[in-house]
Amino acid sequence: MDVKNNIIKIKNSLPNNVTLVAVSKTKPIDLILDAYYAGQKIFGENKVQEMVDKYHQLPKDIQWHLIGHLQTNKVKYIAPFVDLIHAVDSLKLLKEINKQAQKNDRIIDVLIQFRIAEEETKFGLTKNEGFKLLDETINLNLKNVRIIGVMGMATYTINTNQIRQEFKTLKQYFDEIKKTYFNENNSINKTFKHISMGMSGDYEIAIEEGSSMVRIGSKIFGSR
Ligand SMILES: *Cc1c(COP(=O)(O)O)cnc(C)c1O
Repeated sequence: MDVKNNIIKIKNSLPNNVTLVAVSKTKPIDLILDAYYAGQKIFGENKVQEMVDKYHQLPKDIQWHLIGHLQTNKVKYIAPFVDLIHAVDSLKLLKEINKQAQKNDRIIDVLIQFRIAEEETKFGLTKNEGFKLLDETINLNLKNVRIIGVMGMATYTINTNQIRQEFKTLKQYFDEIKKTYFNENNSINKTFKHISMGMSGDYEIAIEEGSSMVRIGSKIFGSR
């Protein structure tokens, strides 16, 4: 895999307002450094321990995004350095992120994960659950956590119409949340701006449907 070339090609193909998260899970340090020296500074991992290990071994100006499911009892390990947590799906988790962020004297950015795929998956919230979570969060006025957008994964299928439809759904949730909660009196204000959707197989569709952040792994680093 020519990681450097892949990074440059993908970056050049993305619109300016779309952030590339290079998903480096399971990949070794030397490949991540290839991407880093090609100019990539944002990396995504889905396991806490692996992300912590890599954080210690790699340059400190890398921004680490946790893209996978996060257990409450593991927040403390990433709270000192994590840049963005993509998959928040409960109030309990949000409260713990707030607590650990406070301990580290930081504000941690998060996305709310919605379940948009038709296929059965354990993770992500329905629309109603997500709005309930937002209501509760705003009432609590958590000072050390900042909800900056939404995240979702489309069904793994060759049916591009279905994928497109699922991305449209996430965009609608984003727009509705922004309209409902965009208000100077609460914690979700101008910083609510990200739609994290799109992976190696479907990021072009995601961008057409309004993605602001794509999470690309195998197209950069090869299959896992
Ligand atoms: C692994 C993973 C990706 C990247 O998948 P690729 O198909 O390799 O691009 C993106 N998002 C999440 C949540 C992942 O777990």
